[in-house]
Amino acid sequence: MQTDFQIALFEGDGIGPEIIAPTVRLLQATMRGYRLNFAPVPAGAAHYAQTGTALPAQSLATARAADAILLSAMGLPSVRYPDGTEISPQIDLRKALGLFAGVRPVRIFAGQPTPLRSTAEVDFVLIRESTEGLFHTQGRGEVTDTEARETLLITREVSEKLFAFAFDLARRRKASGRGRGHVTCVDKANVFRAFAFFRGLFDAEAARHPDLTSDHAYVDAMALWLVQRPQDFDVLVTENMFGDILSDLGAGLMGGLGVAPSADIGADHAVFQPCHGSAPDIAGQGCANPMAMILSAAMMLEWLGQRHGVEAMQRDAARMQAAVEAVIAEGAVRTPDMGGRDTTEAVAQAVADRMAR
Ligand code: NAD
Repeated sequence: MQTDFQIALFEGDGIGPEIIAPTVRLLQATMRGYRLNFAPVPAGAAHYAQTGTALPAQSLATARAADAILLSAMGLPSVRYPDGTEISPQIDLRKALGLFAGVRPVRIFAGQPTPLRSTAEVDFVLIRESTEGLFHTQGRGEVTDTEARETLLITREVSEKLFAFAFDLARRRKASGRGRGHVTCVDKANVFRAFAFFRGLFDAEAARHPDLTSDHAYVDAMALWLVQRPQDFDVLVTENMFGDILSDLGAGLMGGLGVAPSADIGADHAVFQPCHGSAPDIAGQGCANPMAMILSAAMMLEWLGQRHGVEAMQRDAARMQAAVEAVIAEGAVRTPDMGGRDTTEAVAQAVADRMAR
């Protein structure tokens, strides 16, 4: 059994280094019976500003060779390519490593301030296709004086893998008592032929899982329902741009980006990173919420533990998640985004103390 793991570490831009440092310390203090070896790799907007390269070939090679990739956030609005778009190596990594399934768990933790009145049992997972869709021509869109054009791509190959992943996740959630084994395809099949194709592939996969249930929803209606009745959903699966937007809506339901983790998973590689960006407005102040980063690290432990059959990692993943939930529920230590005045380090320490109990 493999117990020694290489983790490529992208410290990123803005608040990235501030939230990843305590997360790595927490992982190092936690590991027993397995070992995580962290390899910091340069990439990002600041790196581009210094060197003219956003994602060096060596960094991509280190990521490809690693067992998992832990990434904070990359990009700075002030640093752009000559075409006006931003530096976003996290998106390049998704494409280069075939990370087709963007997994965005949405749970409202007890004691967490949320814009919702009723917080009954909100616990669903949004799966965002992450390598094609409307991001297909990212960086290659055609722009003239009179018009601009981007192309949406839906392929059978990626969609079939995506839907198989979604039904597998629904089955595992049902087995663990977290969901009812239901998958909803979120699309715009009423208007676009590409989404009718997407939906057809979804239905073909659904037919292979008679033990699970499924349905469809149009993305505009889903935006409404996620606000009105988020407790009704289990696993949602959707196209890249729709998922990009709905995952921030999900983070909003959770009470903010500071507590929203994510994973980008492919057949052979996976990146674990918070849903949020580099938050340049609060960078350098030491007040960024590290919880989304810590919860993403817990998802990494769970994924590695499951993949390699290391139970200790799966147990530690659950302990780390429970510690974050306990700190939220107690409400004694909070960063400003959650209405408190505490620092990144204080919150990370509270999670570490809770895990040590
Ligand atoms: P953002 O997520 O960085 O920030 C949005 C708001 O949420 C800000 O007010 C910020 O202060 C707050 N916020 C985010 N994370 C927080 C945390 N951990 N604790 C407390 N508050 C937090 O989004 P943005 O401002 O649109 O983008 C900033 C930069 O990040 C841009 O360059 C963008 O391209 C990049 N970005 C990167 C990723 C990624 O790496 N996956 C994702 C989104 C945006």
